[in-house]
Amino acid sequence: MSTGFKGKFHRQNMVSRFAKDLVRRSRSHCELCGKNGVKLEAHEVPPLPEEPMVDACVFICEGCHRQVDHPKNIMPTYWRCLNNALYSEVPAVQVLSFRLLKHLVAKGEHWAEELMEHAYLDPEIEEWANEAE
Ligand SMILES: [Zn+2]
Repeated sequence: MSTGFKGKFHRQNMVSRFAKDLVRRSRSHCELCGKNGVKLEAHEVPPLPEEPMVDACVFICEGCHRQVDHPKNIMPTYWRCLNNALYSEVPAVQVLSFRLLKHLVAKGEHWAEELMEHAYLDPEIEEWANEAE
């Protein structure tokens, strides 16, 4: 048995304990697309701290999660919601939005480029966003 699986399981277990805080923070709306009434999942935004932290997690729906995990399959029209998410009060949401936006810019999405040009992010958040792709 590899310890990797156990480690991952332990981590997921710890992250799942944040659910209550995340429900409160997000008011049960997906922190990226704003959908509610759907199942939301905690996603850790890299680089991962040694111990999971609620501030490094975002609470997102399955539709967002799938694309966040596979940014190569990103559907550009889906992500117009980044217009709002980029200005979230939650730094981890801003970081993830900024990274997704970068993928969209790389795909030649003009609106994404414009949004990025006019975005104002705190330098610390921008630094975090540029860490660990
Ligand atoms: Zn969503």
